[in-house]
Amino acid sequence: MEGMGDAMRTRSKDEDLKDRTPVLVIGGGPVGLVVSGLLAQRGIRNCVVERRREAQCAPAAHVLRKRPMEILDRLGVGEAVRRARSPLPLDFITWVTTLDGKEIGRLDLRPVDPETGVRGPEPWTNCAQNVLEPILLRHVETLPEARILRGAEWLGLDQGDDCVTARIRLEEGTESFVEASWVVAADGAGSPTRRRLGIPMEGPGPLARFAMIHFEADLTPWIRDRPGPILWIMNPESPGTLIVHDPGASHVFMMPMQGTRDGDGERAEREAIPARLAAALGVPVTPRILSIDEWSPHVQVAERYREGRVFLVGDAAHRFPPTGGLGLNTGIQEAADLVDRLAGVVSGTAPETLLDGYESTCRPVARANAHESFENMKRLGEITGVIGAPPDLKSLEERLSSFSREEAQRLARAIEAQRSHFLSDGLVPGDSASPSR
Ligand SMILES: Cc1cc2nc3c(=O)[nH]c(=O)nc-3n(C[C@H](O)[C@H](O)[C@H](O)COP(=O)(O)OP(=O)(O)OC[C@H]3O[C@@H](n4cnc5c(N)ncnc54)[C@H](O)[C@@H]3O)c2cc1C
Repeated sequence: MEGMGDAMRTRSKDEDLKDRTPVLVIGGGPVGLVVSGLLAQRGIRNCVVERRREAQCAPAAHVLRKRPMEILDRLGVGEAVRRARSPLPLDFITWVTTLDGKEIGRLDLRPVDPETGVRGPEPWTNCAQNVLEPILLRHVETLPEARILRGAEWLGLDQGDDCVTARIRLEEGTESFVEASWVVAADGAGSPTRRRLGIPMEGPGPLARFAMIHFEADLTPWIRDRPGPILWIMNPESPGTLIVHDPGASHVFMMPMQGTRDGDGERAEREAIPARLAAALGVPVTPRILSIDEWSPHVQVAERYREGRVFLVGDAAHRFPPTGGLGLNTGIQEAADLVDRLAGVVSGTAPETLLDGYESTCRPVARANAHESFENMKRLGEITGVIGAPPDLKSLEERLSSFSREEAQRLARAIEAQRSHFLSDGLVPGDSASPSR
């Protein structure tokens, strides 16, 4: 069906990976690994094909909410994730002119006990994706029912009545075939599987262009008085979002990019990144840039979550702006829902119709979370609306110092309005232990 072409017809099955696997998982990012681990835990054999040899290096997602953490607990990695999490809890969010400049406002996110009025610990786990993924990988590798092929790329598939044949390129460069009863496509926002299946995305995007700069620097002296790991830097000369994963070492700066994706404009913009990072920080450190990745926010959900024996999950099924940190959280919940259904069908304890409920349960949740992430992104503009557009850092700081009482109140209200951005858990699928039929 998916046009595997001559390669498939001319190869002998002897060259292929032998036994048919009940479930093939395409993509061994965090969501694919959760699918694999949960299936293995239920005694369902599965094979993960992941084209990267190493786990994710840059810390993209980092906010793990209550329900996804319960799923990680069920998988048996919750404690390891809590032990490895960032030393900074997600208790405060701060808006500043630069790291060493004026504070514009802050939100205290610690929940207040309604009876005592005392603030308790924040309810999330702040663990960067590049810390989470190796934990998941190490755990899944210990499960005998899970097989992980790293450095292996999925190339195409054919669907038959009762099985799917997938063509993959193995690490050593040879091509092989995997037969599976079911396929889970967890191959990320650009999902080659979704594209091959011709499933369109619904919703707007790309909305903008950003660079995610992962860098090393000791920011401890400037973090001490700036609680919380997320700092919105409003310096007009170099605005962006700083995420402090480890105060002494590991940080991400998310910077809006202006130019087009090709030609001199793009080259000049990339060359300016170190200077813009230094301007945003405004402190005497020399950051060591480890990686620069470009990404664009989308507000998109796949029109269908299933094509025959293939299911989309995680970013393959939806792309949200990171405002609200709902992407990975939604993906982990989808993984749990889908595994409950697949495990029932593969073990013969549930009818195949159980699988129909995956899309009807999870897609509306993804649409709601896409909308919420987009609203969070737009609401951030209310702060800029109060501050205006001072041309440089000096004028911004002068403007903030001369704020009238009314302007200061408007600014405080705009900051307070961001609370739901951080406090919402997004929608969660119905209890995944008893999925709707
Ligand atoms: C800057 C930023 C901050 C974010 N912050 C948050 C946050 O705080 N909280 C949150 O919940 N989410 C956040 N997200 C979103 C989060 O990173 C994603 O939702 C998450 O990575 C999705 O996981 P996934 O496993 O579905 O996809 P991915 O992580 O993209 O994994 C897909 C995998 O598939 C593999 N693959 C692709 N094609 C093939 C192929 N043909 N063959 C074999 N393998 C293949 C890839 O190599 C990759 O490893 C953020 C995203 C960004 C960019």
